[in-house]
Amino acid sequence: MIKVTVWNEYEHERTIPAIRDIYPEGIHGALKTVLSEETDMIVRCATLDEPDQGLSEEVLQDTDVLIWWSHARQDDVTDETVMRVIRHVHSGMGLIALHSAHFSKVFRRLMGTPCTLGWRHGDHEKLFCVNPSHPIAEGVPLCIDLPEEEMYSEPFSIPKPDEIVFIGWFEGGAVFRSGCTFTRGYGRIFYFQPGHEECRVYDDPAIGRILKNAVRWAMQHTRLSEPEDNVAL
Ligand code: ZN
Repeated sequence: MIKVTVWNEYEHERTIPAIRDIYPEGIHGALKTVLSEETDMIVRCATLDEPDQGLSEEVLQDTDVLIWWSHARQDDVTDETVMRVIRHVHSGMGLIALHSAHFSKVFRRLMGTPCTLGWRHGDHEKLFCVNPSHPIAEGVPLCIDLPEEEMYSEPFSIPKPDEIVFIGWFEGGAVFRSGCTFTRGYGRIFYFQPGHEECRVYDDPAIGRILKNAVRWAMQHTRLSEPEDNVAL
């Protein structure tokens, strides 16, 4: 079984009535519903206001793949939590960073670059698969139409990805590297752009397929401990 933890800052859905109407169960709840359709996945949720910010050592040790959604409270994630998550990624825990998690402390520190981009609300996206033989693209249409999505545009200041799986085209005039893979330590990382809180896209079967594929791709069967220090030989 693959143990998945869906972590969400859980702010917009609690504090903005219009967003609560879109995601009454929270973005984490919607993601859990989608991933729980898979019989090989055990899905738990965690949120920022829980003890240890939802990500205790015990939770992370028991997580094969961590899914991360954050936006308004990026700065409330403590350095202690960030370093705990990064240590587990280095040891082999998978990380899937969704949408505005591009600007989370965890993702930015793992990338080592500003991770800035351009954005505009209320656009129409066509998500093109540019790497159809990649495991994350298995069974995914070559083009997914998202009538309503926030536009993200290049330049996206990330380091050169290991692989680009999806590129988003926006009707308002922009393109974006919407699905990228990275490796940090022993951990596999997938950044995926769709998922603005005003646009309920995670129920889309094609988007769900990408998320499920990404979980299976990011899962590592062996979890190693990060070396404590250099070793004199
Ligand atoms: Zn957004």
